[in-house]
Amino acid sequence: MSTATDTVSASAPEARAELLAFASRPADARPDLLGLEREALAAVLAGIGLPAFRTGQIWHWLYHRGATDFQAMTTLAKPLRARLAETFRISRPSVVTRQDSVDGTIKWLLRFADGNEAEAVFIPEEDRGTLCVSSQVGCTLTCSFCHTGTQRLVRNLTPAEIVGQVMVALDHLGAYPTGGPNRPLTNIVLMGMGEPLYNFDNVASAMRIIMDGEGVALSKRRITLSTSGVVPMMAQCGADLGVNLAISLHATTDAVRDELVPINRKWPIAELLDACRRYPGLNNARRITFEYVMLAGVNDAPADARRLVALIEGIPAKINLIPFNPWPGSKYVCSDADTIERFAQIVLAAGYASPVRTPRGRDILAACGQLKSDSAKLTRREARSVAAE
Ligand code: SAH
Ligand code: SF4
Repeated sequence: MSTATDTVSASAPEARAELLAFASRPADARPDLLGLEREALAAVLAGIGLPAFRTGQIWHWLYHRGATDFQAMTTLAKPLRARLAETFRISRPSVVTRQDSVDGTIKWLLRFADGNEAEAVFIPEEDRGTLCVSSQVGCTLTCSFCHTGTQRLVRNLTPAEIVGQVMVALDHLGAYPTGGPNRPLTNIVLMGMGEPLYNFDNVASAMRIIMDGEGVALSKRRITLSTSGVVPMMAQCGADLGVNLAISLHATTDAVRDELVPINRKWPIAELLDACRRYPGLNNARRITFEYVMLAGVNDAPADARRLVALIEGIPAKINLIPFNPWPGSKYVCSDADTIERFAQIVLAAGYASPVRTPRGRDILAACGQLKSDSAKLTRREARSVAAE
């Protein structure tokens, strides 16, 4: 969003152009109420003289009822609705495309106010409906088997943009009022584009909004954050949010993991597993998930399976074996069914049940590691001109 302060440091002709752009800002330059935590929402409402009890009412409309229009807030008097509408907006990312897989998976390509794009994926299963949420546009990391890793980091997503992905899914699924017994969206995984622990403050803020019992009301037990292994942030994630943790392990030796998940050169396997052992609130009811992508001839030998179970011994854990999902230009091949089965048997014998994850939404490039958007880093000027469109 272009702001008044942007114009201050610019040179004279630029400042003029920017002032013009500022003057012709679209109406949605009004401050957004979506993505503000309760205290922040209370503060902006107090800023226009509203008493504290209005925060709960408006929160209810935003997150329990999914209102995007103040006129729908029928528990508020009409003049108040009008005043709110003049002062604030309630955002949604715009939906560029929606693709529906033959298996029921839905993928949305979403565009944010500055023109950047990211994807979110809904995966319906018999007993649950999981939304896979992005935390960044692109990724700073370059895991060699991951499509997102080929896209340079453009920027972190804001709390409103992370919450916005959930709201778009709820809108499309007709899931209001939220929290009912047969709700279609029951789980969230932070496994979309980006490394959530490199955008922790915004992710945490968004998750606190989603977990709030008077709104979307998804419990921390139904939220899983996946990290490639940002060791210094793991304890804070457990302490502040208490969500489930998934670790993209993918290899059992540092030599192989250095190749697959380059962040391993900074925080090698031993340090990563130490941080897992110290993860707050870990017990048999709340286990860490270790994700392991099956790459033919790279990490799928029986010796890898044996090393894997030895490495995680003593950590309350689940193992997810993920068949590699190819993408245009990828240099790996997925392990064949027999090899995956042999690997799974060794893991099973060590006490970890049904670990192979069935790929979902492969036909629409919505499966793990296939997400990517065309957003590239724009200059400030380009970004502003897109935002002004
Ligand atoms: N950046 C975070 C979360 C997003 S990736 C992380 O790396 O954990 C979500 C999961 O999909 C990770 O385990 C990731 O390693 C895995 N993944 C990436 N590319 C994949 C591919 N092509 N096939 C299967 N899984 C993949
Ligand atoms: Fe980034 Fe995760 Fe992909 Fe690695 S696997 S490049 S950390 S999104």
